[in-house]
Amino acid sequence: MIFTVAIDGPAAAGKGTIGRAVAARFGFSHLDTGLLYRAVGAKGGDPVAAAEGLEPSDLARDDLRSLEAGQAASRVAVIPQVRAALVEFQRRFARAEGGAVLDGRDIGTVICPEAEVKLYVTASAEVRAHRRWLEVGGDEAVVLAEVRERDARDMGRADAPLRAAADAFVMDTSVLSVDKAVARAIELVEQKLGERA
Ligand code: C5P
Repeated sequence: MIFTVAIDGPAAAGKGTIGRAVAARFGFSHLDTGLLYRAVGAKGGDPVAAAEGLEPSDLARDDLRSLEAGQAASRVAVIPQVRAALVEFQRRFARAEGGAVLDGRDIGTVICPEAEVKLYVTASAEVRAHRRWLEVGGDEAVVLAEVRERDARDMGRADAPLRAAADAFVMDTSVLSVDKAVARAIELVEQKLGERA
């Protein structure tokens, strides 16, 4: 069975938690596409060469979750040749047999517009910065500034900007708990799978 769940939205909105829960519930594979851009940013040197030569070991680095790696990722993610180098791998993952969940910024709009279920998960910048600050610590105002800077870069770039697909189901986790968002996402997938059966 080929079945794709596309989850897009800004940093720390809850995409990863929802994606992992949906994948576990249905036995789908899960790809956090942000890791690809983080790995390219962390490699240093020419970002296009880094994206073209990306290897599984690059994704296993333990420093990819930092705020700095997030900023470096969003800087290389504006380069069209970097994005182009990563498209094929993501498309193949999305349409592989057995079902797949991908979370990122352009999954429902560019990577897999034919996805069976599209979610756009968002929350206010303050709520997202607070969540990130609980994980990374430091000065919360600095974390908020970082979140806003990354949002502006991701939404403002010319190639594959962050936006909700017209047919995406929008969830705001500043008002909906992540548990409720997971339950809603599971319902939407069940409904789609039921229509197919
Ligand atoms: O989701 P995460 O915070 O790990 O993503 C890091 C950065 O990678 C994002 O801020 C964005 O610039 C970029 N990205 C992207 N397209 C994706 C996933 C991530 O441009 N599908």
